[in-house]
Amino acid sequence: MLDQINGLHHVTSMASDARENNRFFTEVLGLRRVKKTVNFDAPDVYHLYYGDEVGTPGSVMTYFPFPGIRKGRPGTGEVSRTAFSVPDGALGFWQERLSAKGAGELTIGDVFGAKTLNFSGPDGDAFALVEVPEDRRAAWTAGGIGEDQAIRGFHSVSMRLRDEGATAELLRFMGFDPVDTYGDTRRFALANGNGAHVVDVETVSSARHADQGAGSVHHIAFSVADRAAQAVVRKALIDTGYQVTPVIDRDYFWAIYFRTPGGVLFEVATNEPGFDRDEDTAHLGEALKLPSQHAHLRDYLETHLQALD
Ligand code: ZN
Repeated sequence: MLDQINGLHHVTSMASDARENNRFFTEVLGLRRVKKTVNFDAPDVYHLYYGDEVGTPGSVMTYFPFPGIRKGRPGTGEVSRTAFSVPDGALGFWQERLSAKGAGELTIGDVFGAKTLNFSGPDGDAFALVEVPEDRRAAWTAGGIGEDQAIRGFHSVSMRLRDEGATAELLRFMGFDPVDTYGDTRRFALANGNGAHVVDVETVSSARHADQGAGSVHHIAFSVADRAAQAVVRKALIDTGYQVTPVIDRDYFWAIYFRTPGGVLFEVATNEPGFDRDEDTAHLGEALKLPSQHAHLRDYLETHLQALD
């Protein structure tokens, strides 16, 4: 069993409108935009990163806004919900705020014994806020959201699968322990994680496969400290029979990717070098940053990418 993985690093989803996506995450949820860059493979599409002050691994929600793409159809073989951690007692504030700002599908309940507020994002993205009493991660406070309410980072992700078997085995191999069950959902957690170290696996054997689109999670990335830890994880996965990509330089972290048995795309990303690699912490996310191979497109992209602010 591996012990290099600390929890989630980032969650990457798709959106249909960059400006609306930016507005929702910064103005409604109060996260900080920590990077404005473009998709490595499709440089005319943004890659937007939102998180805490510095984009600490475990806090970073990222988006590819493909202008006008159709909405995803939820189903199996995907991440069905992304949950953020908020302080104990904060859900009343959030229920009022999200309702006033037009977030959809607000429902409040108890999940695994924690008060949980479900809501949807601009493209029907399934989110939740979970009250966590002792989350000591620093908050980014902005836009009228105080220390007592602000998001601390991810709490968990939920995957909806037809069959949990092989994925459960993989999660155990990655260091996660099954810690609880609730209906058709089994909860996995790391013993000493980064705060964003819970993965729920819901088994729905009869549901149809998801059709990915706007509002769908594209992949989830798990955090490792550095490239040495990543190399250990990569070798172990390959030795177990997984097809893992070579290490790819993503400018702010190094990444490897592999498809899991249940259909969800996993990434393992390093905590180094981080989002302050190419701009001051005070100005993270303000300027358009381009991967070096796309630097020659700057004039074109500055003109053609939708203005966010
Ligand atoms: Zn990623």
